Amino acid sequence: MTNHTQIAVIGGGLVGKATAVAAARAGFSTLHVAPEAPMDRRTSALMGPSVDYMIEAGLIDDPETLGVPLTRIRIIDATDRFLRAPETVFSAAEFGHQAFGWNFANARLGESFSRAAAGGANLALRAATLKSASRADDLWRLELDDGSRLTAELLVGADGKGSSVRKAAGIAVRERKFDQAALVCDLELGRELDGESVEFHYPNGPFTLVPAGGTRANLVWIDKPETLDDARREKEQFLARLSEKSRHLFGAVSVVSPSFVFPLSSLSVDVAGRDAAVLVGESAHAFPPIGAQGLNLGLRDVASLNACLRAANPGSYGWADAVARSYGAARRGDLARTGMFVDGLFTSLLSPHLPAQALRSVGLWGLKTFPLLRKHAASLGMGQ
Ligand SMILES: Cc1cc2nc3c(=O)[nH]c(=O)nc-3n(C[C@H](O)[C@H](O)[C@H](O)COP(=O)(O)OP(=O)(O)OC[C@H]3O[C@@H](n4cnc5c(N)ncnc54)[C@H](O)[C@@H]3O)c2cc1C
Repeated sequence: MTNHTQIAVIGGGLVGKATAVAAARAGFSTLHVAPEAPMDRRTSALMGPSVDYMIEAGLIDDPETLGVPLTRIRIIDATDRFLRAPETVFSAAEFGHQAFGWNFANARLGESFSRAAAGGANLALRAATLKSASRADDLWRLELDDGSRLTAELLVGADGKGSSVRKAAGIAVRERKFDQAALVCDLELGRELDGESVEFHYPNGPFTLVPAGGTRANLVWIDKPETLDDARREKEQFLARLSEKSRHLFGAVSVVSPSFVFPLSSLSVDVAGRDAAVLVGESAHAFPPIGAQGLNLGLRDVASLNACLRAANPGSYGWADAVARSYGAARRGDLARTGMFVDGLFTSLLSPHLPAQALRSVGLWGLKTFPLLRKHAASLGMGQ
């Protein structure tokens, strides 16, 4: 049997869930194709504009009940390089905000997004994987791994870095794999972070503690995979490494969750929408988890697609092509800007070359000294 839907959203990560809710609430019959997935153990620092979007879209209620406010960001150059950057602290209050954003457990966000989707008009969920997609006569023809077939007018790829939708739509991708990976786990510290996210910058990548409430912290440690594997092989050695990497500033440290290691790569596309197909989240962009940009950018994709859908005329011929075109054009600047920002930051952090290190030190000195520069950097970091 072949079913028909106006919009098919492929992928059940946070961006896929948010997109399915937005498409259905914009009045389109929507099928969300999302296979069962293991629990997402990552946490996400989401900035004010992302949190505002989630509230407006009905994806979360009060951020205070789900996440922990981030009120300060401290950057410490922990390298022993000849040119070291000064320690720099950004406070949300100096920019007139109560908080830069909130730190959420992805699993809790996912539950909240699923509650928003449950029972919604226009929205059906299928726990399946997309096997193939091709377009003929202005319709996408989809085959799922549960044996079902369906047609869709607009196809949305929220299916991550290896996106099948991207391949089916023939959208070219540039990918770069890094020598680094990211280790994440939850820690109990000897003292509270009190809303402050602390980034220690080491030559192989940052070691970041993000406040998770009380004396809890979420660790994101970027380093060579062999260093990370070696460090967590034995419990006592792991604790000693964590204490040493955090410069023994937080008293006794204990690990209170399993640790996971994510390989790092960056990915960008020529265009995020064309031929009645659009890409949202990591199917369109990925980068190392520094500066908390990935999911923030993914939620901006969803907000932008939502605006395109609400401006569309689904009764008219070629409406899905028009949405894909306008979405592709609307996302171009933000995707390029954010990609450049994160790439530049990551490259300057890791660079062994003196000129890049000098540039970074001068940059951080400038950020420490000049209020306008601080304001500009804070706006950029918040995706404004
Ligand atoms: C260590 C780490 C820390 C991070 N911290 C932050 C942070 O603080 N702030 C921030 O903004 N971002 C952060 N990010 C980035 C953020 O986690 C990602 O950008 C975001 O989770 C991507 O969501 P997504 O839904 O696009 O992709 P994914 O979560 O990868 O979801 C893709 C989904 O598609 C499904 N899928 C794949 N193929 C198919 C198919 N053929 N059919 C159906 N389904 C399919 C998969 O099963 C998966 O569920 C971090 C990332 C890492 C690795």
